[in-house]
Amino acid sequence: MRSEDKGKPVSIWKESDVIDGRKVPAFVAILRTVGCWWSRKRGCLMCGYNLASDAGIGLDDLRAQLHEAKERYGGESFVKIYTSGSFLDSREIPLEFRGEVVDAFREAERILFESRPEFVTEENIQDLRGRKISVAMGLESGTDRVLRDCVRKGFTTADYERAALLLRTRGVPLRTYLLLKPLFLTEREAIEDARRSIAFASPYSESVSVNPVNVQKETVLEGLWRRGDYRPPWLWSLVEVLRGGKGTERTRVFSSPSGGGTPRGVHNCLNCDKDFLEAIGRFTFSQSEREFEGLDCRCRLEWRALVEVQDAMATSVDVDRYLSSALDLE
Ligand code: SF4
Ligand SMILES: [Zn+2]
Repeated sequence: MRSEDKGKPVSIWKESDVIDGRKVPAFVAILRTVGCWWSRKRGCLMCGYNLASDAGIGLDDLRAQLHEAKERYGGESFVKIYTSGSFLDSREIPLEFRGEVVDAFREAERILFESRPEFVTEENIQDLRGRKISVAMGLESGTDRVLRDCVRKGFTTADYERAALLLRTRGVPLRTYLLLKPLFLTEREAIEDARRSIAFASPYSESVSVNPVNVQKETVLEGLWRRGDYRPPWLWSLVEVLRGGKGTERTRVFSSPSGGGTPRGVHNCLNCDKDFLEAIGRFTFSQSEREFEGLDCRCRLEWRALVEVQDAMATSVDVDRYLSSALDLE
């Protein structure tokens, strides 16, 4: 990486989010850091975030990035500072810099950081108390077998629960990320896993974000996807999860898919992807299942058949791709 890039955030953009049921403008910055320690050790099977990290990034680089973020900040109420890792890991964000970030956005109503549960400690939270922060944790699944075998998350649901309870005790709102369709799950198993996980995470969470897998570069998952051994989830499945997935009355369940409607992201067919993504976008703010009324397409039959066939065949491979290539050979 060129040295001038080390002082540049990975990305900055503006969007909308929700605070206490109100739709508000949000500012998002992804800071480039030394990266997630777990990603360097073994890493989650679907994660390619380490590509945006650099082991040589120091405090001056971080300060230059913060300066650029601050320049582009327009007073949005919700500020989200991502690091493609853990904001609360002092190897990524040195302690002295943590306070500088929070101070830079002191006029915001809320600042959200992401962290793995092992860094959600009394000490770390103490540092930031009274600063209008909220924390997001990538739990991915509420089932330990899935976490271990299908995500390789490197922590357990008990680790998440400990961190979530601490945040609750300290009055820090929690956003939980769940993964829709980790590796090796059939389409039906993926739907059931996501629903179970919403029920598990909701009591701890102010909001739950269901993230359908997006095939990232240079990941284990990408290799399997290229071979036809993995297909990202269908939008039909995502709607099914959101429709039936309400965990508790106070928890907002939503999805903002990356790469939606592309071969690497959640998709149905070219005819209906756009309508589905728009309905999911509206649901994020309205929380009304009526957004999904009237969604229909011929590909529904294909999706339903796949849900049945994959289970009967006991396989999670991309059946459609296998069948098409078999027909091509004839
Ligand atoms: S998904 Fe999160 S915890 Fe897993 S390797 Fe990537 S950054 Fe680290
Ligand atoms: Zn369709």
